[in-house]
Amino acid sequence: MKVSEVVKAWGRILQGRPPSLSIEITKECPLRCPGCYAYDDQHLGGGVTLRGLSDFKGQDLIDGVLEIADRVKPLHISLVGGDPLVRYREVEAMVPELLNRGIHVQIVTSAFRGFKSEWSTMEHLNVVVSIDGLQPDHDVRRAPATYDRILKNIAGQRITIHSTITGQMMKRPGYLAEFLEFWTPKDEIRKVWFSVFTPQIGDNLPEMLTKEERLRLVDELLVLRKRFPKLDMAEGLIRQFATPPGSPDKCVFARTTAVYSADLRTKVTPCQYGGTPDCSSCGCIATMGLEAVAAHKLAGFIPVGAIFKASVKIGEMWPKPPEPLPNPLKVLQ
Ligand code: SF4
Ligand code: SF4
Repeated sequence: MKVSEVVKAWGRILQGRPPSLSIEITKECPLRCPGCYAYDDQHLGGGVTLRGLSDFKGQDLIDGVLEIADRVKPLHISLVGGDPLVRYREVEAMVPELLNRGIHVQIVTSAFRGFKSEWSTMEHLNVVVSIDGLQPDHDVRRAPATYDRILKNIAGQRITIHSTITGQMMKRPGYLAEFLEFWTPKDEIRKVWFSVFTPQIGDNLPEMLTKEERLRLVDELLVLRKRFPKLDMAEGLIRQFATPPGSPDKCVFARTTAVYSADLRTKVTPCQYGGTPDCSSCGCIATMGLEAVAAHKLAGFIPVGAIFKASVKIGEMWPKPPEPLPNPLKVLQ
């Protein structure tokens, strides 16, 4: 993160505005990945689920996303889902509009379909493709977005790979190096990011890392980042995986990111995972990046995190603008 971006984000926080926005622009996805948090019954707090929401298409979707962007004025917006490329025509139309507003745009997809070749050269646009480990594991979990399909759909593009590390991967020595050996030599890959599987409170799943595996992962990533320059994870960020925030209140990412679901009104809380995530086992790369910034000490002794917390309190004192009323036609559908 550049200093100018930190200063801009700080200004938004002081105004009571989240500098970062994430929108589940569709409830649809052609995949059925095991453990997908977006389709968990508790993702939206119980009661309604993502699939139960009334979502938007066409111009209504484009207008709805731009309305939120104009109201919140974020510095960064993530278009997620479901899979946002289910609505690729709408995404193609809204991306230039968002970029023209000076917003950095990130599209998170399984690459189950191709996307506009122009996206590879657009400044401040990042297409992030989710890949769940090596081909035999990924292809079982993520069909029809298999390795072969991804390789075909990203040809000539410039993408970021995001992969979530699980307990199963950590039990096989050399797994992450093998993954990086496969992907990083390809011209299409700009960078690679790893998150760690984040459970909900009370979960007991094979995907979860043990404490020992988490500490071993930190050591392993510190070595891998030197061997694979496309592994875009700073040392300070990697070290944060050893000490996750512990609760949403202490999480810089959760307090600076507003997450809207597919009806463009329902907020996903406390963070993009929804439900009741186990913050003591959080593995979100964005969270670790912001925790690393918060841990930085200005003039050698004032933690940025302390300034941030005071700024959030000041921002919360501003009166909040009212949310717009829902589109009555959508409510009746
Ligand atoms: S691609 Fe993403 S949204 Fe779709 S099922 Fe898999 S994890 Fe869930
Ligand atoms: S799960 Fe992670 S990102 Fe979500 S609120 Fe907890 S610490 Fe923050």
